[in-house]
Amino acid sequence: MIVILGSNVGEQSEDYRLTLDYLARLPGIATRVHKVQGTQQALTEIYLIGDTKTLSAEEIEALPGVERVVRISEEYRILGRHQDEQRISGFEYNGVLFSQDNLNVFAGLCAVDTPEHVELMLRALRENGQVCTRMGAYKPRTNPYSFQGHGKACLPYVFELAGQYGIKVIAMEVTHESHVEEIDECLEQTGHATGVMLQIGTRNTQNFELLKAVGRQQEFPVLLKRGFGITLNESLNAAEYLASEGNSRVVFCLRGVKTNMGDPHRNLVDFSHVPVLKRLTRMPVCIDPSHSVGSRDRAPDGLYDLMHATAQGVVSGANLVLVDFHPAPTKALVDGPQAMLLSELGWFLEDVAAAREAYEKRQRLTERHSAG
Ligand code: PEP
Ligand code: MN
Repeated sequence: MIVILGSNVGEQSEDYRLTLDYLARLPGIATRVHKVQGTQQALTEIYLIGDTKTLSAEEIEALPGVERVVRISEEYRILGRHQDEQRISGFEYNGVLFSQDNLNVFAGLCAVDTPEHVELMLRALRENGQVCTRMGAYKPRTNPYSFQGHGKACLPYVFELAGQYGIKVIAMEVTHESHVEEIDECLEQTGHATGVMLQIGTRNTQNFELLKAVGRQQEFPVLLKRGFGITLNESLNAAEYLASEGNSRVVFCLRGVKTNMGDPHRNLVDFSHVPVLKRLTRMPVCIDPSHSVGSRDRAPDGLYDLMHATAQGVVSGANLVLVDFHPAPTKALVDGPQAMLLSELGWFLEDVAAAREAYEKRQRLTERHSAG
């Protein structure tokens, strides 16, 4: 059960104290206070943990300071939708809005290799009006002898250049909690020239200690990739780990699942799960066509498979697109074969916009047909 306090009920108020005292006296029920920062307002949600079936929602709703009580199913307590349309969803970070209702594109380098390539990438983004990107500094690799990313050595020039080119948010994978500190320190040193969304990769979806550490910090939002060999439910529980530690600014990213049934794509594309995620949770939903499809193969119509996959996700209402580009894919140190060219960025973005328009048109059609 979630008890939502009125937006004007501050921690110092009498109503707050009376309500918390009452809840603390409920036998066999533990309380956990969670601050939710929405785009418009901040709210306090109090989670009642234990056997809440016998509690009267009406009685709790009558307490001073309580606005509403939401009964929740057991799964995804914090991030779940729980058939409640009124709870805050979405968040703003560094001036960029993330929600289930809008769309942001994060085109960029799978792995940072040289400052020149970073700058060429960022320039192309600025020319195309983009304020988000992806830049991998810490790369988890299957083969221990493969390039593992430049790590903290590249952060100063990545952040400084990002600031110069007007980038507000960089999606950057972390594989260890020390990486979060390194990013934090470097942002501090570079005067917060840009912002970072921490990415948890598919190989770490169930790295519970990493999830807990990243969930404990409140500075950065998190983009969690679906685990490539586990169920959707297991991946959603991984997202809930982040929220249960205090960070509910979480974006959930579909990136395909591992099976040879997806051949010749790198993974079996799972973007038909976009609406499922929106139904089950309040998280913005990201799609990663690059790591799903994994090639620059084209269909006979001239479009890349990965553009078709992107459109499939966007036409179903995806909220973020995370996609690999590179100024010189043959020289890329990681995932060159799936990177699109900078000269193709404008085309890719127009194609995404066309798919988004189709989605919005489908929404209007739905409204019209459900009106009567
Ligand atoms: C990535 O986005 O660079 C990446 C490694 O993705 P995934 O974790 O989905 O394989
Ligand atoms: Mn990659």
